[in-house]
Amino acid sequence: MKWSNSFLFTLKEDPSDAEIPSHKLMVRGGYIRKVAPGIFSYGPLALRAIRKFENIVREELESRGAIEILMPMVQPKELWDETGRWTQMGESLQKMKNRTGAHFCLGATHEEVVTDFVRQQIKSYRDFPFNLYQIQTKFRDEIRPRFGLMRGREFVMKDAYSFDLDFENAQKSYQLMKQAYQAIFDRLGIEYRVVQADTGSIGGNQSEEFHILASSGEDELLVSDQGSFAANVEICPVQKKNIGNLVQTTLLPLETFSTPGVRTIKALAEFMEVGENELVKTMFFSVSEDVNQIKPVALLLRGSDEVNPIKLKNLLGLANPPILLTEKEVHGVTGAWPGSCGPVGLNIPVYLDEAVASMTNYVVGANKDDFHTKNVNHGRDFAVVKVADLRMAKEGDIGPEGGILKSYRGIEVGHIFYLGQKYSKAMKAQFLDSNGKLEPIEMGCYGIGVTRTVQAVIEQCHDKDGIVWPLSIAPFHIHICLLDPEDPSTHQAAEEVYQKLKEQKIDVFMDDRKERPGVKFKDADLLGMPYRLNIGTRGLINGEVEIIERRTKKMIKIPLNKVLDKMKNLLGSE
Ligand code: ATP
Ligand code: MG
Repeated sequence: MKWSNSFLFTLKEDPSDAEIPSHKLMVRGGYIRKVAPGIFSYGPLALRAIRKFENIVREELESRGAIEILMPMVQPKELWDETGRWTQMGESLQKMKNRTGAHFCLGATHEEVVTDFVRQQIKSYRDFPFNLYQIQTKFRDEIRPRFGLMRGREFVMKDAYSFDLDFENAQKSYQLMKQAYQAIFDRLGIEYRVVQADTGSIGGNQSEEFHILASSGEDELLVSDQGSFAANVEICPVQKKNIGNLVQTTLLPLETFSTPGVRTIKALAEFMEVGENELVKTMFFSVSEDVNQIKPVALLLRGSDEVNPIKLKNLLGLANPPILLTEKEVHGVTGAWPGSCGPVGLNIPVYLDEAVASMTNYVVGANKDDFHTKNVNHGRDFAVVKVADLRMAKEGDIGPEGGILKSYRGIEVGHIFYLGQKYSKAMKAQFLDSNGKLEPIEMGCYGIGVTRTVQAVIEQCHDKDGIVWPLSIAPFHIHICLLDPEDPSTHQAAEEVYQKLKEQKIDVFMDDRKERPGVKFKDADLLGMPYRLNIGTRGLINGEVEIIERRTKKMIKIPLNKVLDKMKNLLGSE
């Protein structure tokens, strides 16, 4: 491809709505343009990177026997009603009505459609196992689309679904897909990690996520410095060993005292001259599945700990994490504003984090503005529904399998789930076993965010000047800067190199614009192809061209007639 016929427009300035480097670089490099929040058009270079990644995905899946299909983007309500997810998915499922009044949604995921596709066709145990996948556009009406392709509303996903006769075979299929994912992300040539994960609204009880490491990643990962334990912080258990030894035996009488203007744990710790870990904070959530209705519960944590809403969701068996009550709602429940609230005297369910369970004579809000109560003891002063691990694990904690946890930030690019019979039971997707008995199918599902991965690669691989593509999905491997396009012999020499590289099936791009060298070099750095070839009149006088490696900026001079061999050598295509 030549710049003069590429419909490529780079920008000098960062777009005002981009917060992270990869988003800025994709817009500045002309890779993407916004159509509406979370909805983008992909330019020719982005499309090439996307296609290259899709090919890696296809090769690794097909070599493990997966079969490509394509399911519809528009899906009928009736299928989603069978699993209850029409309502459970909430507002993220984009719903609409057609002219006859029939309800549809845009495909946010395809478990229902694929299960229906399979149940219509399979007959007996002889039809198993099989794995169906597609690479397709998904739509989710995300509350806060941001970071460009990272959290889009419309995005491309590869989704695969495995179908097996029984648990053991389903586990084998899961492991096979895990291997496929490892092969895919190994081939990308980036740094990634596999972590234990929450199953979210997909359901099931075993799942792992694949994360590309990057400091701006939305997820925190905790990885043990010994052994293989690694988990998304959302589900990382906290070991009892991490709880301090706060044991006092005599239970003292309750005492309410004035704490004027003290509204935060930090302020209370200063006011009382104690550590935040010696204080207890009370948080209020609504655990109603219906967003229009409030069902309040209280949760007690050490002042120094953070609540983990996913653990609370899983403890209560909810489909979505519970929502924090607003200040006004808290006032309605307790009679005081947040900062002065506590569990004593409330008639709502109270949950206790394990770390609080070992505390006695602690301080909480008095449910009266600007007052706190001390010498509070659960059991004696208020009833507890359940004690559980409900807080965030942190870097430095002892891990569940020993070792010390270290924190990383990651971008979730892949997610694999063992589903079991959740969908097949709900949708009656059954087969006749060898005894002629009807059995529900065992399923797994496996997603990769294709467009998110492409941007996540940039988030990990860039420098101050632009993108630094790994060879795996670079739109082009070589970027020729034709430095004196108006000099016919230079132009011809560059043209010859360009044609020869193309003949060798090497992906080459040539900047043949009538622009100054400085402009071309800046754009080449911004676009980020792994190698730049400078072909200019001055070098050609000595019969030389320059090769610059994008990652290291290292430059070598090479005779014009050796360029082809050298490039083949560098690209490992010899
Ligand atoms: P997240 O936790 O980031 O919202 P998810 O857990 O809802 O994602 P899955 O349902 O597991 O996502 O979807 C499979 C993959 O699709 C994810 O691992 C991610 O790479 C990608 N993906 C999900 N949501 C988006 C989005 N809004 N924009 C781009 N890619 C997405
Ligand atoms: Mg996920």
